[in-house]
Amino acid sequence: MREGLDRIAAAMRADEWGVAEEAGLTPTQLHALTFVAGRGDAGMRLRAVAEHLGVTQPTATDSIAALVRKGLVIKLPDAQDKRAVAIRVTQAGCDVVRAIGLAMTSAERALETLSPQEQQTLLDLIIKTIRALQQAKAIPPQRLCVTCRHFRPYAHEDAELPHHCALVDAAFGGRHLRLDCAEHDPAPQPAREAAWSLFARRAPEPAGPGA
Ligand code: SF4
Repeated sequence: MREGLDRIAAAMRADEWGVAEEAGLTPTQLHALTFVAGRGDAGMRLRAVAEHLGVTQPTATDSIAALVRKGLVIKLPDAQDKRAVAIRVTQAGCDVVRAIGLAMTSAERALETLSPQEQQTLLDLIIKTIRALQQAKAIPPQRLCVTCRHFRPYAHEDAELPHHCALVDAAFGGRHLRLDCAEHDPAPQPAREAAWSLFARRAPEPAGPGA
């Protein structure tokens, strides 16, 4: 399984290089830009950018400096702490992120060949794996539906739209579970565990060794 994931990751990295190159960015700059853009007007501290990217603070500093020079992000005093700096996306940065989002990569085209049910199963397994990585503190906290205070798993009998987002008061389907939602609000631990056990009971189990 590991070799398979390595191949998919390699294809996705190649995709990212292509998309980043077209936008005149390095892959790290591209990740930093999309991360900051996803945080909206509040902006992000440099340390959070470095944590999210899994790089050192000097590497994140270099990437942000390049994005500032290109006019894609700006540095402003942080609203919570005037001594600190927040990094915020500019309109030009938003335009680049939107254009990148519209470009379909070869990995996405490959995923499109899966049936809707297979795509949903894959997403459930990815969510389980990301959560396990998060629990092990191997990655920083992610803004997943399954850890959000607004998430109500399997609140509806409708097989197409079983989940509910209390923030927008609407049902949504398993294929639309978010991995990085701008409106994510972390649930308190007991509520998070309760929601997870309800979700995990009905989501598919990851395949065992040798699968
Ligand atoms: S606010 Fe976002 S993360 Fe939270 S349940 Fe709704 S869609 Fe999911």
